[in-house]
This record gives sequence, C-alpha cells and structure tokens, in this order.
Amino acid sequence: MNYVAKVLIVDDTPENIGVLFELLNTHHFDVFIAQSGENALQIAESESPDIVLLDIMMPGGMDGFEVCRQLKANEMTSDIPVIFMTALAETGDKIRGFKLGAVDYVTKPFHQEEVLARIDTHLTLRALQQQLQLKNKHLQQEIEERKRIEEELQVANQTLQQLANLDGLTLIANRRRFDEYLTQSWQHHQYIKKPLALLFCDIDYFKNYNDHYGHLMGDDCLQKVATALSKATRKPCDLAARYGGEEFALVLPETRLEDAIRIAQRLQSIIADLKLEHASSKVSPYITLSIGVVVTIPTPEQSPQMLLAKADQALYRAKTQGRNQIVTQE
Ligand code: GH3
Ligand code: MG
Ligand code: MG
Repeated sequence: MNYVAKVLIVDDTPENIGVLFELLNTHHFDVFIAQSGENALQIAESESPDIVLLDIMMPGGMDGFEVCRQLKANEMTSDIPVIFMTALAETGDKIRGFKLGAVDYVTKPFHQEEVLARIDTHLTLRALQQQLQLKNKHLQQEIEERKRIEEELQVANQTLQQLANLDGLTLIANRRRFDEYLTQSWQHHQYIKKPLALLFCDIDYFKNYNDHYGHLMGDDCLQKVATALSKATRKPCDLAARYGGEEFALVLPETRLEDAIRIAQRLQSIIADLKLEHASSKVSPYITLSIGVVVTIPTPEQSPQMLLAKADQALYRAKTQGRNQIVTQE
C-alpha cells in the first residue's frame, strides 16, 4: 500500500477550510484541520504531518507567523515544511514568512492546481531529504563500525607482532627479535659512532640440571634466569633475549666495556642471590652463568655476525677457563 501523506490545514475561516479539505481529500491526502494556532501546534506534535498549510491572519493571540516560529523552534516539528496561505500578497509578509522558515506560500484565492503542485513539490523534496538523512546516518554508522574494526585489527596486529617477537617459555625477546634488534642497533651505532655491547650467557652444566631435576624444573630455571636477565638491564633500549636452549643474550646500546662488564657482574649477582640449587654442577652448589662480553664501535668493514662470533668465542673461553665467570674479547 502506498504511503498517504498527511496534510495539516491551519485556518480560522470555515469556507477556506472547506474548499481545501475537498480538494486534498479527493486527491487522497490524509487531511487534518486546526482552526487556531494553539490547536495547530498540538496536532503538529501529535500527528507529525508531512506538510502544513498555514493561514497568516488568524484571530486570537497567535497568528500564522507565530505558529511557524514555534513549529520551527520545536525539534519534533521543525522539519515539517510550512506553506503560508495568505490573502496578503505583500512582499514584506512573504519575506517574513521565509525568514521564519516557511518553504513556500500560496495566495488566496487559490488556484487548485497550483496548490496541489506546490504541495506535491515540497512533499517530494521532503521525502528526498529524509532519504538523504537516512543514508547519511547509515553511512555514519558504517564509518564508525569500520573505525572500530580497524582499531581492533590494529590491536590484534600489535599482539601478533609481540607474540612473534617473544620466546614462548620465558616471555623475553626471542632469537628472531634478537637478530633484528642487533642488526638495527649495528646500523644505528655505525651512524652515531658509539660503542655497542653484546653479552652472551650460557647456564653452566644445564644438561646435568635437567637430568637431575627433570625437564619441568629445567624450564622453571630458564624462566628465572630470563627474569634475572631483564632485571640486570637498566635502559629501556637494552634488550634481553633467549638466543636458544639455555643461552641468553643482552644487546646494550651506547655502552662502554666497563659498563657492560658491570651489567654482567650484576647479572651474576642477581642469579647468585636466587640460590637456585644445582646439585650436579661441578662449579657451584647453585645455578651459575658463563658470560662473554664484547664491545665495538661498528664500522662498515665489520658486521653484526663478527660481533656475534666474538661474543661466542668469549663465552667459549669462559667455559674452558672453568665456567661461572665473565670473559671479555677484544
Ligand atoms: P655447559 O656448562 O658446557 O654449558 O654444559 P651444559 O650442560 O649446560 O650444555 P649442553 O649444551 O651440553 O646442554 C644444554 C642443555 O640445555 C641440554 C638441553 O636439554 C637443555 N635445554 C635446552 N633447551 C631447553 C629447554 O627449553 N628446557 C629445558 N628444560 N632444557 C633445555
Ligand atoms: Mg650450558
Ligand atoms: Mg649451551
């Protein structure tokens, strides 16, 4: 069924109402009548007409201008198009009506076809405006929904990125992140010409530990050593990583050899304070680390791999010289 447009006629003269009512009724409009301004405002609120035909000259305190002003001031009725009907063809009145928000006017006596044409035009305009508003609202909702999804996606991507960079067991940086960070730091330090330090650490006799205490206790021990490694670092740019198995690494940007050694010593003392019992170690009743320390100001002739190899050599020497010690390599 087609929508029947509602028209509110506001006029105090029964003859005018009669003519208009007939006309609109035969053209299948749903017609409401108000004979005073007050009555017009009430009906406009309760019936939400699609258009108002408003007489200007009405007796009593409220003329058509005032009715229009109040219709436009009320957000429930402000969108309803108002067509003034006036016997006054004076320009001043028309302008006043438009200023108050009317969309059109017709002058009495009416030409029926003109009244119908104007009503029709404004109903069409209004319908189009409403469609546009609805579309805009949907569009706005879509934009907001899209923004929300984008934000969620960003968070998910960040989480994914973090997971890709973390070691599953110890929750410190993994080998992938270590490699990436060392390369980045290498390039940066080559540019700023400052020393970059690297510590390589390996738990002493860890195979024995696993054999003695079991693999689960071994995992637990690795987590504690990883935490100690993070605690030993001071600057936010220091990176503690699990290099693999029971080997860990620290990348220390802008760090001189004596400071790197101090951090290695602090790491050893944090581990010592934990007193992680290790009955099958040949160097101590507790878990100990062997640590290789290297520092260099990177140059284009060298590479991060060379620094890694040096750190590994230093660590190897710490092992062969008796473990539980710090060895530096030029
Ligand atoms: P060294 O003092 O020369 O370093 O002797 P080590 O026994 O520590 O060295 P080795 O390389 O012989 O053994 C390393 C052990 O680390 C063997 C392996 O079972 C253990 N390991 C490596 N990754 C893990 C892990 O994720 N969890 C546990 N529990 N153990 C691990
Ligand atoms: Mg070991
Ligand atoms: Mg090892």
